[in-house]
Amino acid sequence: MPKRIVIIGCGVSGTTAAFHARKTDRAAQITLLGDEELPEYSRCGLPYAFSHVVPSLEALIGHDEAFYEQMNRIDLRLGWKATRINKEGQNVEAVPAKGNQTKTFEYDALILTTGAQPSTIPVPGSELKGVFTIRTMNDIERLTNHLAENSAKRVAIIGAGLTGSEMAEALLERGMAVLEAEIVPEILPAILDPDMASIIRTQAERHGVEYHLQSSLEETEHPVGPERRSSSRTIGRNKDR
Ligand SMILES: Cc1cc2nc3c(=O)[nH]c(=O)nc-3n(C[C@H](O)[C@H](O)[C@H](O)COP(=O)(O)OP(=O)(O)OC[C@H]3O[C@@H](n4cnc5c(N)ncnc54)[C@H](O)[C@@H]3O)c2cc1C
Repeated sequence: MPKRIVIIGCGVSGTTAAFHARKTDRAAQITLLGDEELPEYSRCGLPYAFSHVVPSLEALIGHDEAFYEQMNRIDLRLGWKATRINKEGQNVEAVPAKGNQTKTFEYDALILTTGAQPSTIPVPGSELKGVFTIRTMNDIERLTNHLAENSAKRVAIIGAGLTGSEMAEALLERGMAVLEAEIVPEILPAILDPDMASIIRTQAERHGVEYHLQSSLEETEHPVGPERRSSSRTIGRNKDR
């Protein structure tokens, strides 16, 4: 009987696992469950699709569905969220985004590649319209639509790590004024020493990024006034100023 392999999470890890499983076992029944509606795409490219350096969001998609299903005989279930793992019975329950009919997938081997979620800051106003996290293609589409619908001119970014810094560059490319707040004394703290990071910060400042270092988000609020009713204002505490 062919081995039944179920993979939860259709990002680069899950997709790599599925293709590798096919390479090493030509007979296996491979099921790939992903709660996003699209096949695997490059999250790294999202800021560049936003700024149009990459021509479109669709250009970030690695392979179309036929490549999974016909070339590699992978049962690709997009828009399916795994809701329960029954270890005893060796099966996974999942529900499709469209509909609520739970389906059970039996497995001999189960691979979890569910990735990560952006962390949010539990401050007043973090649920307001106009506050976004950036992780998925949907996030970029929502941000793009929001900026256009509100004729937005200024964007505040909380966190000057890699994603925040790439989004700052992308927003500048799209003509926005960018304010970036960072809780530690220098940008890109996870990947660069402060002396190196300060060179990049100086360049970014020349291009127009307004940094607030050693600042933490206290509140997000809608500014009063009909002309900017649906944009949001971010307040940071700047300890060194
Ligand atoms: C804007 C941005 C820029 C980045 N730039 C870089 C870069 O330049 N270099 C770099 O090395 N890395 C970069 N990264 C990080 C990189 O994208 C991640 O390390 C990578 O996506 C991790 O892949 P993954 O498959 O492990 O997880 P993910 O990509 O998070 O995929 C996991 C998938 O599992 C799905 N899932 C979760 N739970 C369930 C469930 N219960 N049922 C079904 N599906 C589920 C999720 O929705 C998701 O689609 C960037 C990330 C972002 C957001």
